[in-house]
Amino acid sequence: MKKTARFVIWICSKFTREEIEEIIQGLLDVLANRNPEVKPKDDFKEKHPNYRNFFVDPNPPLKVPSETTPKLDWRKLLSTYEEKRGHPLKPVDTRNSKTKVPKGSICNICGAPYQYLYFNDGKKRSQLKCKVCSSLSQVHPRHRNKAKYFCYYCGYSLYLWKKRRDVSIYKCDNDRCPCFLKNKAKLNFRERILAKIKSSQFKLRYQYREYHFTEEELK
Ligand SMILES: [Zn+2]
Ligand SMILES: [Zn+2]
Repeated sequence: MKKTARFVIWICSKFTREEIEEIIQGLLDVLANRNPEVKPKDDFKEKHPNYRNFFVDPNPPLKVPSETTPKLDWRKLLSTYEEKRGHPLKPVDTRNSKTKVPKGSICNICGAPYQYLYFNDGKKRSQLKCKVCSSLSQVHPRHRNKAKYFCYYCGYSLYLWKKRRDVSIYKCDNDRCPCFLKNKAKLNFRERILAKIKSSQFKLRYQYREYHFTEEELK
């Protein structure tokens, strides 16, 4: 027998017809949202606490690339290279248009300038390889060197994710961003499965909302 059916029997053993009618009325009020104090238990929400939890990030983005972002220093790496090999590391051949990266790109790991970076994935042009530290970084196709904001947590350049009349939303798409890793780790087993199908319903990555108001609208 179902839990609810057993409960009906239990109620009937404890209450009179009149009392039961009052209970039913009380429950109808709850279901119709007429009782602000009591809400039915939200089973889905309880099992998926991070689903549609679209909180606004309290930390504003950085306006300039973070000084501390590169974990390694490309200048030091270059001089170490020269000491060991007896000749300097040659920059990338920028005449090859297939691998040539936009001016202004820098390596996320060591800070090497674009002369040492090249596209590593052919036509897709989304993966930068650094000749100095050999690391790979992702370049979002919609956003290359026009970064306006940088992630508060990892310093990665934010890309323009959504643009509406009233707001532009920028997002950090660094898979190693501490903010992303922390939020991802918070998901429970059910949520991890759900996030695979409905990733847009989970806010895992750092976001910044830039509102556009005209002076007229603020009056
Ligand atoms: Zn590098
Ligand atoms: Zn980040």
